[in-house]
Amino acid sequence: APSIVWFRDDLRVADHPALHAAVERGAPVVCVYVLDEESPGIRPLGGAARWWLHGSLTALGDALGALGGRLVLRRGPADRVIRSLVDETGAGAVFWNRRYGGPERELDAGLKQALHDDGLIVHSFAADLLFEPWTIRTGQGTPFSVFTPFWRACRSAPEPRHPLPAPHAIDSADAATDDLGDWELLPTRPDWAGGLREAWTPGSDAAHERLREFLDDDLSAYAKGRDEPAKEVTSRLSPHLRWGELSPYEVWHAVRERRSGGEGAARFLTELGWREFAWHVLFHAPDLATRNWRAEFDAFPWPRLHPSALRAWEVGRTGVPLVDAGMRELWATGAMHNRIRLVTASFLTKNLLIDWRRGEQWFWDTLVDADAASNPFNWQWVAGSGADAAPYFRVFNPELQATKFDAHGEYVRRWVPEVGTDDYPEPIVDLKATRDAALAAYEHVKAAR
Ligand code: FAD
Repeated sequence: APSIVWFRDDLRVADHPALHAAVERGAPVVCVYVLDEESPGIRPLGGAARWWLHGSLTALGDALGALGGRLVLRRGPADRVIRSLVDETGAGAVFWNRRYGGPERELDAGLKQALHDDGLIVHSFAADLLFEPWTIRTGQGTPFSVFTPFWRACRSAPEPRHPLPAPHAIDSADAATDDLGDWELLPTRPDWAGGLREAWTPGSDAAHERLREFLDDDLSAYAKGRDEPAKEVTSRLSPHLRWGELSPYEVWHAVRERRSGGEGAARFLTELGWREFAWHVLFHAPDLATRNWRAEFDAFPWPRLHPSALRAWEVGRTGVPLVDAGMRELWATGAMHNRIRLVTASFLTKNLLIDWRRGEQWFWDTLVDADAASNPFNWQWVAGSGADAAPYFRVFNPELQATKFDAHGEYVRRWVPEVGTDDYPEPIVDLKATRDAALAAYEHVKAAR
């Protein structure tokens, strides 16, 4: 009886333990991706993510095709879809790589039980995090809430395993498939994706190429240059990791094998550590995108929203050049440099005094790397309400940040060419006065502690 491999956030053929196990089992394989917009609690993908998914599924279909396999596309509540695929194909086994979000885990656990009860073989595998969340604990057996000891504990755990090779060939079982075009993942009118197409190539081949380029050209400059957006020395691997086009194990070992990486390599691996930390925090706090991780922040008196201020931030017309540059880069390319994400998020929450959840939602819709852990985790980190968060009084001053990290104004001019002319608006808020207002509002949180 055939094996079903259910692809989720792991759109690759190499280092794919579930695919590997199915091929080893020997029976024909059905590879399926399910677009699930109906199961309870599963967050609908944002626009930029849907664009990426289209490209990534196309690339995965090609990669499977080259091995003799085929990607079956289905749409609907995933547990129902998988169970009906089992009936249609007479499958005897189902394999997948684990997910770590709350609703996803619940769905997977329920499905696993149901399939078990029907007598099927069901196996799930660790593939998309370097350390399983339940294995990294403090001495008291609780989850870590601070990054440094968390990462120390990870580094003293057994080294992440070596990546698995892609299968040599896939013996494919037949099943009907949707047509990807019918899913309407791409924008129609207006076509806002031109800049995304220019900036990115979804898929494992492009991901591996990017990793190679980064290791060859940028790793040695990473430690010093990673905070300067005009330098472009960061890896730009985040969407590829988000969609699992390459695995963190592949990245980890590729970096470890570069002996010349020095300080850059250590720093880069620590950034992968932040990705782990965000997912571990989500594992223990599944409502991270909607609820303050530190409950005393519920007392924060967010003023009434001024929709025009939110809109100015979204479209990059706040009159604060570094903020506007970042927001325009985000809209045009689906990405933003990390330093500028910090500045724009701080500006929204602490100068415009807009609830971090509004910003998180905008990023969710516009980032190609938006994921259920890193996005809310980092928003809460900036807002001060999150795990190991920046202290609240740390309000980024966008003018100082620009002097420090974009000293020649190169990044700002790239995205805001009209800066310094009459066409450019005055700042919509006074940075100093709004900072003081934010600090005053924070007194409510202190009182609630
Ligand atoms: P590099 O500097 O090359 O880092 C390598 C990898 O480490 C990244 O690809 C990413 O997977 C991981 N990483 C680095 N920094 C972080 C971090 N702070 N948190 C989690 N992982 C990290 N990253 C996302 O992947 N998805 C998001 O939705 C996301 N939302 C963010 C929202 C805000 C407000 C902020 C401040 C940061 C957010 N980040 C998010 C983290 C970070 O900005 C991006 O991972 C990084 O800019 C991606 O560029 P890069 O691949 O060149 O990073």
